[in-house]
Amino acid sequence: MARIADLLAAGPTYSFEFFPPKNEAGWLSLGRTIAELEDLEPSFVSVTYGAGGSTRTRTADLVSWVKRQTPIPPMAHLTCHGHSRHEIADILIDYRAEGVENILALGGDPPADGSPAPGSDYRYSSELVDDIRSTGAFSIGVAAHPELHPRSPDRDSDRRHLASKLRDADFAITQFFFEVDHYLALVDDMGAHGVDKPIVAGIMPVTNLAQVSRMAHMSGAEVPRWLVDRVAKAGDDADDAARIGVEIATELCARLIEAGAPGLHFYTLNRSSAVRSIYTELGLTPSP
Ligand code: FAD
Repeated sequence: MARIADLLAAGPTYSFEFFPPKNEAGWLSLGRTIAELEDLEPSFVSVTYGAGGSTRTRTADLVSWVKRQTPIPPMAHLTCHGHSRHEIADILIDYRAEGVENILALGGDPPADGSPAPGSDYRYSSELVDDIRSTGAFSIGVAAHPELHPRSPDRDSDRRHLASKLRDADFAITQFFFEVDHYLALVDDMGAHGVDKPIVAGIMPVTNLAQVSRMAHMSGAEVPRWLVDRVAKAGDDADDAARIGVEIATELCARLIEAGAPGLHFYTLNRSSAVRSIYTELGLTPSP
């Protein structure tokens, strides 16, 4: 079974996200990470896509590598800003030929000045969902932002557009968040719109507070004061800070599992140790 919609229907999924490395050293390091995480028997892994197609080949290479060299079903991220319909069709034909069955359909980000990307046939991810759906070949995920997408003018419009695209997709994966209530409110809001598709929770273990704070700022997530204070107790001890970050992520995962989240998706940043520790703490490590 390799379609994520089917995996979610069968029970909770546990999945990992990677980005395609830029150079040889990065590929070697990611190879080691994947080997270390393979033992955890993830339900699927996903591979990010650079804005405007900047990692088009590298994303496809990594997705194909996972498909051919591991037993783990891959999911390819695909952003539509900056692409023509023709280019998207070509990318989908290649994935289909490779036997890839899962795509995360994303808007991506337009140029910083807000102008439409040159040559782009797309404005919103929902248009990409429609085009992928019309192939009949893929299980389709979309992005959800528990604390609202940074370009959303208000909550109502954010939830309305999310509900609309999720209705046409199979599942959503959330941006990372640190308060379980943000996730629960999102699920409630989708319920109020009559949408009950699975919403997989995105988990970012905070192993480097400065780095995660920068990412949170760009994605519209809040890093709460209590989290900053708790990690700050480690002072200059980076190992202790990472240990506290894992502890916080483990607590969040436990609450999400208890609340019935249909899946947890870990933003690994191409490293394995935080996820392995969280698995151990949660008792998720498969027995040998
Ligand atoms: P959309 O669904 O198009 O939404 C963008 C904004 O437009 C929202 O404010 C929405 O409310 C609004 N909107 C939607 N439809 C309409 C409409 N019809 N009319 C008016 N407004 C509308 N980025 C990458 O570049 N590469 C990646 O690999 C990547 N992976 C991601 C994985 C996950 C799990 C998540 C949560 C995000 C990821 N992103 C990635 C980031 C994502 O591309 C950005 O957040 C991007 O700014 C918007 O993507 P979206 O799919 O949410 O866009």
